[in-house]
Amino acid sequence: MTYALFLLCDFLAPIRSRQSQGAARKHPFFEQRPSGMCAVGFRAYEYQADGSFKTTQYAYEGNDQEGWYIIREGSRYLDLPGGYRLLRSLRCGICATDLARIHLAFPLPQIIGHEIIAEDIDGRIVAVEINASHASISSPAALTCPMCAAGLATHCPERMVLGIDRLPGGYGPWILAPAGNIVEVPHDISDTVAVLIEPFAAAAHALESLSLHLKDARRVAVLGLGRLGLLVIAALAVLGVLYFALKKIVGWFVGRKSLKSYQRSETTSPSLN
Ligand SMILES: [Zn+2]
Ligand SMILES: [Zn+2]
Repeated sequence: MTYALFLLCDFLAPIRSRQSQGAARKHPFFEQRPSGMCAVGFRAYEYQADGSFKTTQYAYEGNDQEGWYIIREGSRYLDLPGGYRLLRSLRCGICATDLARIHLAFPLPQIIGHEIIAEDIDGRIVAVEINASHASISSPAALTCPMCAAGLATHCPERMVLGIDRLPGGYGPWILAPAGNIVEVPHDISDTVAVLIEPFAAAAHALESLSLHLKDARRVAVLGLGRLGLLVIAALAVLGVLYFALKKIVGWFVGRKSLKSYQRSETTSPSLN
């Protein structure tokens, strides 16, 4: 198999401004062969098990319908079934999961990065939900997988996670994303804001999980004003739920348990004024 060519004619082109993103338009950002197979090759920073980064050669070859080979340093690294779409990564956030990646149970090395804004083959700007479950790639196994069949695809026991577990992430120039997890970003949302869609979805999902309790809630306390806490506050504001925020001020140990103390910060819900 040849994967040393990889043209990437606009690989080095500056990322186009959002103003230029108009109607969907096709552009040849990878090699498309008469056989219907596509190939793309690139070098990317790959996170190593010792916490360092190393430049590594990758290639993807295949297509959306029949599946893809991921080749790393000249050897087959991962075979993907149909249902994955090739996207060009434009921006990628950094979160605490990335900072703690070395401590997670998933194999390294890997190209990490999972808060991704990308461009598809038609020039559309998209955000990506990262759980590559049976359901997300429309696999027939979704009908028999207990989690996917129950509508809990983000807990699919056979899933991979883009940028976290095996699937190369958004700190490389190209990703293969589950086709069912790709969401077009509206034109009036800048890339810089859109890159928060993935972590914001986590905050929104937390509230969705609590929706029964929130229905009758008069006020909600948000413990901690870190990145996720602030996104939870943003989600509560969208829902019109009253909230107050508590800032962590000290932690101490009682026996083996670590407890945290919280101090009420300024009231941040406009509707509480
Ligand atoms: Zn994250
Ligand atoms: Zn499943």
